[in-house]
Amino acid sequence: MASKKQTGKQRTAAKKTKPPTIQRKAVAAAATKPAKKRARKTTVKKTAGEALIFGIRPYRPDKKEEYMNPRQREHFRSILEAWRGQLYDEVSRTVHNMQDENINHPDPSDRASQETDIALELRNRDRERKLLRKISQSMALIDSDDYGFCEKCGEEIGLRRLEARPTATLCVDCKTLDEIRERQMA
Ligand SMILES: [Zn+2]
Repeated sequence: MASKKQTGKQRTAAKKTKPPTIQRKAVAAAATKPAKKRARKTTVKKTAGEALIFGIRPYRPDKKEEYMNPRQREHFRSILEAWRGQLYDEVSRTVHNMQDENINHPDPSDRASQETDIALELRNRDRERKLLRKISQSMALIDSDDYGFCEKCGEEIGLRRLEARPTATLCVDCKTLDEIRERQMA
């Protein structure tokens, strides 16, 4: 009865309600042991020529630094803020476009293309709105010290994955399982 989309939404909504704090603390305690070599290996890279993330340079952790220490959290906060700023710009541009478009075209074919333009703009705005919501949820996670940990299993999501998807709330493994399950239900 429920479509694929709905179940996905319901699942995220359900996940939001249970705070991952307890899991996270267990992980934080475990993280004092040198079990993070795997995550670190991928981050040791040359400095120049690195792709910027919304204008921000990728994070290069020190050898022994703790995952999601204050510096890392600030790094991701900056990324999220930069991304949000970019989306705000897009949204205001969209609004202006729509105001400009809002003149009556006498030619029916102009009118038709105007309507597709508006439909497209509305879809864009919908996308932007959803992203902005995710971004503020991620910011809230940073505030509550829960950012960067999988909300399902409590494991570290990892710096590289978070830089690629700053609003990720699942580790790669849980995300993959989720996608497999969703495919099976479809
Ligand atoms: Zn996980």
